Amino acid sequence: MMTKDQYIESLRKLHLNLYSFGKKVENVVDNPIVRPSLNSFAATYELAEDPQYEDLMTATSNLTGKKVNRFTHLHQSTDDLIKKVKMQRLLGQKTAACFQRCVGMDAANAVYSTTFETDEACGTKYHENFVKFWTDVQNNDWGVDGAMTDVKGDRGLSPSKQADPDLFLHVVERTADGVYVTGAKAHQTGYLNSHYVLVMPTISMREGDEDYAISFACPTDAEGITLILGRQSCDTRKTEEYNDIDVGNKVYGGHEVLVIFDRVFIPNDMIFLNGETQFAGMMVERFAGYHRQSYGGCKVGVGDVLIGATALAGEMAGSAKASHVKDKLIEMTHLNETLYCCGIACSSQGTKTKSGNYLIDLLLANVCKQNVTRFPYEIARLAQDLAGGIMVTQPSEADYRNPATHDYIEKYLKGVASVPTEDRMRLLRLIENMTMGTAAVGYLPESMHGAGSPQAQRIMIARQSNMEMKKELAKKIARIG
Ligand code: SF4
Ligand code: FE
Repeated sequence: MMTKDQYIESLRKLHLNLYSFGKKVENVVDNPIVRPSLNSFAATYELAEDPQYEDLMTATSNLTGKKVNRFTHLHQSTDDLIKKVKMQRLLGQKTAACFQRCVGMDAANAVYSTTFETDEACGTKYHENFVKFWTDVQNNDWGVDGAMTDVKGDRGLSPSKQADPDLFLHVVERTADGVYVTGAKAHQTGYLNSHYVLVMPTISMREGDEDYAISFACPTDAEGITLILGRQSCDTRKTEEYNDIDVGNKVYGGHEVLVIFDRVFIPNDMIFLNGETQFAGMMVERFAGYHRQSYGGCKVGVGDVLIGATALAGEMAGSAKASHVKDKLIEMTHLNETLYCCGIACSSQGTKTKSGNYLIDLLLANVCKQNVTRFPYEIARLAQDLAGGIMVTQPSEADYRNPATHDYIEKYLKGVASVPTEDRMRLLRLIENMTMGTAAVGYLPESMHGAGSPQAQRIMIARQSNMEMKKELAKKIARIG
């Protein structure tokens, strides 16, 4: 396994073709906007080095028998699925941000089982390809970005019916050695901190969509890939002269990238699905299921930090003993732990796939994510309620450091006399960061849309609800028929 420092040095060897704020980024690793996200990703390496977290952060590979980072592990039991969620909660608590490495783990587990079943039905060699690739990932402890979401163009049309054929990533040329692909993947979390990208189709495919039913892996800096960094609310605070207090979370963050593939060559042995439209849906459903489970871990860990920050804000303002403050903290905890219950439940009810790895209970994972589309918003609303308006009206750090205004701020932003004003300012900026700044991207809209928007879960819940069985139960009790 790589140490945190080895990981960071390994990223310096990548030649990512990244654009941000109208310019090509020459040094991605030290870029001030990107760097906090790298620090979060690096925490997945750092904690794996810490003996006290060995059981959660590492596992024994079923491919090699060696110790691997759990973020590269193929789950071998329901215990592995539960440990995954616990690991994600831990990382959320340590970073208060998206640490990004889960998408690769979730993609790997979905591709591993889907390739096995595709080969069984179609006589292909995708599972062998994937096992070879993933053995390299585990042995090198690479970071992998799992890429699913296409830009999708007209939502009313299937991939092959779009006015622009590139709105879903697809094969544009086939040769004896491989394929060329063109298209784009949106919202790519952690791409810049990853060594490889593992691409999957974005929706179930029909006959006629063969060129779009494609899954493969390639290096993140492969020829033909262009990256454009997404903007986050308050992101340029990271580049200001005084960039300590106002950023809210100085060390950690997340990022999202638009990834454009322009005739990228994929050799045959890195292809995991190529035209078998009937298996695109399985891959999508399993990846989405794993990532919907993931949110019952990571968002809960981030929620722990926000709840703690809110409790501290009350203490700093002298309102901690008020009964409504205590009750709101109880409500936040109740909501947060409900999400955790869902993450643990869908893990504990997991089952073995034909390939041997474990899949979460899909109904419960979708219920988990459906709750995640709501509860973090309510937790954030309560955090803003208790933080008070000063969270959004307090002066800048630059004014706090200016001798002309420092003493006034020191005096008039004071809450409880024993608490330094600067501590209160820092804490309020953290709540701002998590509920409306850079980290809110990960905690709120990503809770809504990440791993699929709410309606996607409702479709899955409907499909898995076993309504006929429920109707039969009612009929029997009512003595009908
Ligand atoms: Fe991991 Fe959560 Fe970020 Fe997804 S949103 S990559 S589960 S930390
Ligand atoms: Fe996500």
